[in-house]
Amino acid sequence: MSKKPKLGQNFLVDENACLRIADALGDISQRTVVEIGPGHGAITGLLAPRCARLHCIEFDPALARELTFRFRNDPHVTIHHADILETDLLQLRTDNGELTTGPLDVVGNLPYYITSDILLHLFAVARQGLLARAVVMMQREVADRIAAPPGVSDYGPLSAFTQLHAQVTNLFTLPPSAFNPPPDVYSTVVRLEFASRFTELGVEPEAFNKFLRASFAQKRKTLSNNLRNAGYTPTQLAEAWPQDLAPQVRSEAVPLEQMATLFRSLNKTV
Ligand code: SAM
Repeated sequence: MSKKPKLGQNFLVDENACLRIADALGDISQRTVVEIGPGHGAITGLLAPRCARLHCIEFDPALARELTFRFRNDPHVTIHHADILETDLLQLRTDNGELTTGPLDVVGNLPYYITSDILLHLFAVARQGLLARAVVMMQREVADRIAAPPGVSDYGPLSAFTQLHAQVTNLFTLPPSAFNPPPDVYSTVVRLEFASRFTELGVEPEAFNKFLRASFAQKRKTLSNNLRNAGYTPTQLAEAWPQDLAPQVRSEAVPLEQMATLFRSLNKTV
C-alpha cells in the first residue's frame, strides 16, 4: 500500500504518456492553454513550446516557485500559485484587461482528491462558452462513471452533468507504475469536447442545473421523491409527469432528454 501523498501529488513519470496527453490537445499553436496542477512540469515542458499562451495553476508553493524559475525566460508561460477551484478562468483570457483569446483549452493530471469539484468548476465556465476542450487524467473509476450511459450502474449525477456539457472520450488507461509515488488506483486520460446541450434540450442552463442537482440529491430515493423534497407538490408532479416515464424511476435511469421533458412540463405547471 503506497503512502497517501499530500495534495494528490502522484507525478507522472511515463514520458510516452506525457506525450500522448500533449498530443491529445491537437494543434495548440494558436491557443491559450490552462494546465491544472503542473507539479514538476512533466507535461508543462511539452506544452510550452507548442502553444501560444500557457497558464499553469499550482497550489503547492514550492512547486509553483520551481516552475516560475524554470520558465523565467518564457514570457508566454505564467505560473499562478493558486487553487484551481478559486481561479477565475475568465480572467485568464485577458492580458492587461484586453480580451486576447477565444475559448481556452484545459489540460492536467488532476489531483484526484478534488476531481469532481474541478469538473463542476470547469462546467460552470463551459456554460459561458469559455472552454473548447479538456484533456484530463483522473481515477479510472471516475472516468468510467462520466462516460457511462443512463441506466448502467456507473451512471450518476457526475455522468449527467458531464454529458450535459461535453462529449466524453476515454483515451487511454495507465497503471500505478506510471506515477511516482504510485497511486492505489489505475488512471484514465479523458478528452472532453465542450458543447453544452441546453439549447438543444430547450432548457435554461442555470435552472436546469439546479433541477438536476435536486433530482440526484439523495441516491436511494426515486426521482419523484427527490423532486418532492425540492418543493414540488404531488399534484404538480402528477400533472407534469411524462407518460413514458415510470413513476418509481430513479434519476440514474433517466436520459437527459427525458429529464428535460419533465423539467419543461413542470415549469409550465408551477
Ligand atoms: N502534472 C504533474 C504530473 O503529471 O506529474 C503533477 C500532477 S499531480 C497528480 C497533481 C498536481 O496538482 C500536484 O502538483 C498538486 O500540487 C496540484 N494540486 C493539488 N491541489 C490543487 C489545487 N487545488 N489547485 C491547483 N493545483 C493543485
